[in-house]
Amino acid sequence: MAYDNDNIFAKILRGEIPCDKVYEDDHALAFKDINPQAPTHVLVIPKGAYMDMDDFSANGTDAEITGFMRAVGQVARDLNTVDAGYRILANNGADANQEVPHLHVHVFAGKNLGSMLAL
Ligand code: 5GP
Repeated sequence: MAYDNDNIFAKILRGEIPCDKVYEDDHALAFKDINPQAPTHVLVIPKGAYMDMDDFSANGTDAEITGFMRAVGQVARDLNTVDAGYRILANNGADANQEVPHLHVHVFAGKNLGSMLAL
């Protein structure tokens, strides 16, 4: 499967549709989820065209992967979630119900998040 340049997060990266940005650096962009599932719900995406964690971990450069992971941690710190705690989650593929085919890490915080998975 090839990367879809018209996916919604690609459009956000190109500035074609707006987002509520909370963080940006050379490797990553973070913005509030449009349909928040927790008091704090932010999405962190790499700037490169990677479909999911499988694609990114196999094909991302060391600099992209390092930069992205540092960005996820920085976003959590910037959101003041570290002391109380936060959860990160990345859906990969059909069984995980990944909706948008550009890698994104969800950052959830702001309340006790309960058990790991609600099935
Ligand atoms: P997934 O299920 O792929 O892991 O999560 C996709 C997430 O993207 C969902 O939480 C959904 O609310 C969010 N989302 C979908 N479209 C948009 C959009 O246009 N803007 C923002 N900020 N979030 C979006």
